[in-house]
Amino acid sequence: MKILLLGPQGSGKGTIGSMISQETGIPLVSVGQILRNIPNEHPWRNSIQEQMKKGLLVEQSMVAQLLKDELSKDKYMSGFVLDGWYRSMKDIEAYEIDFDIAFLLQISPETTVKRISSRRTCPKCGKIYNTVTPSEKPKIEGKCDKCITDLVQRDDDTEEAILKRLHIFQTETKEVSDLLRDRGILKEIDGEGPPNEVYSLIKPYL
Ligand SMILES: [Zn+2]
Repeated sequence: MKILLLGPQGSGKGTIGSMISQETGIPLVSVGQILRNIPNEHPWRNSIQEQMKKGLLVEQSMVAQLLKDELSKDKYMSGFVLDGWYRSMKDIEAYEIDFDIAFLLQISPETTVKRISSRRTCPKCGKIYNTVTPSEKPKIEGKCDKCITDLVQRDDDTEEAILKRLHIFQTETKEVSDLLRDRGILKEIDGEGPPNEVYSLIKPYL
């Protein structure tokens, strides 16, 4: 089964993707992970890392090729759960995949802002925390569990920046979701609840 996960920042795609993968054994593929874990010897490594550091979106054709390479591995022969592709029509033009089903996780702008603005990062080890989600809170307020470094809020996690990114997401994915809806494979899922609740809405389709 080839599954696509769509949703704005803070919609819980990563968490839900892991849950689907754990429950069904279908491997999870995250474009973000592929880009972060690009091997040292890869000829595009420096270029991609630079684009990411500048906060740019990595060139479509590069991402498409890396994703094709990843998905050609034997372990994905009987399917995958994909997070981070089909964000716009350009992605589809660069690399089209015959998904069986696509889940669009929907949350309100208020929830997006609440979830993202409560996010804190450890500048030393990169671990991400959330000050409102009990399971993601640091043990000591404001400090990293692993290395006791002071946690910081990313500059681009302000309400204004979050709403701007959300607007871009909604504009760009509208065409994609319309297309998937026409094909009859789009399932719109209420993403407001806790992960277990969201997963229970997805489970019947798996
Ligand atoms: Zn840390």
